[in-house]
Amino acid sequence: MGLLDSKVALVTGAGRGIGKEISLTFAKEGADVVCLDLDPESASSTAREVEELGRRSMSLKCDVSNLSEVEGAFKSALDKFGRIDILVNNAGITRDNLLLKMSQEEWDLVLKVNLKGAFNCCKAIIKHMMKQRSGKIINIASIIGLIGNVGQTNYAASKGGLIAFTKALAKELATRNINVNAIAPGFIRTAMTEALPEEIREQMLKNIPLGRFGEPSDVANVALFLASPLSDYITGQVLVVDGGMVM
Ligand code: NAP
Repeated sequence: MGLLDSKVALVTGAGRGIGKEISLTFAKEGADVVCLDLDPESASSTAREVEELGRRSMSLKCDVSNLSEVEGAFKSALDKFGRIDILVNNAGITRDNLLLKMSQEEWDLVLKVNLKGAFNCCKAIIKHMMKQRSGKIINIASIIGLIGNVGQTNYAASKGGLIAFTKALAKELATRNINVNAIAPGFIRTAMTEALPEEIREQMLKNIPLGRFGEPSDVANVALFLASPLSDYITGQVLVVDGGMVM
């Protein structure tokens, strides 16, 4: 028996990093997983790994910032599986720059993918979840949305906005038995953080009380909790997964 037996999950940004780990963790607990990503090859590679774990899967190439693409992708997922029980809004990007130098394009793109992307995916699924009278929505925010960071005004605004969005939507959907929560990871070892210079990584490590960077599995385990019946009485919350950086 798995925690997610007979559930269908859709994970955005499932091609690598945290999204891939969440997809595989859910599959190990019995869920069928729809793997959505901008990059079709990485999405289908994750989908293949889900199938190797004995679950059904499908991969979808989709830009979460484009509502009509998202609607089309969710429709094909619903046509294939008949239901979606769990949505993980994980796709996200950074375009770091000091505000003084930040272009409109850098601002707009980060807000469009990280915040409007979650709006689009929720728009495409909530009618279905409301009819189902059940659902779990998990938004992958960031501690930067709570505390800010130099060079990340766009990213901080998108993730702070995502946290506020989570709380408002949780209030809207609570009577329909749909839980909406966010996870705020700290520094997790993925392609996104590997791009940072060594001295910044060393500096960050000094600020992590638990003394190590996070792994994608640290986030995936919390996503599993929020996707499972173990968290049925939790909604509108932000779970911080950061080794103690923010407390
Ligand atoms: P990652 O390794 O860069 O993976 C992000 C995935 O999202 C990639 O597969 C990427 O596809 C996909 N993606 C990007 N834009 C997309 C779009 N418009 N539509 C659909 N898919 C898109 O990042 P990660 O570190 O796993 O981060 C996952 C989430 O956690 C993000 O929301 C990030 O902000 C958040 N987070 C990460 C950390 C950390 O330390 N890593 C900390 C806090 C929060 P491509 O391969 O085509 O680019």
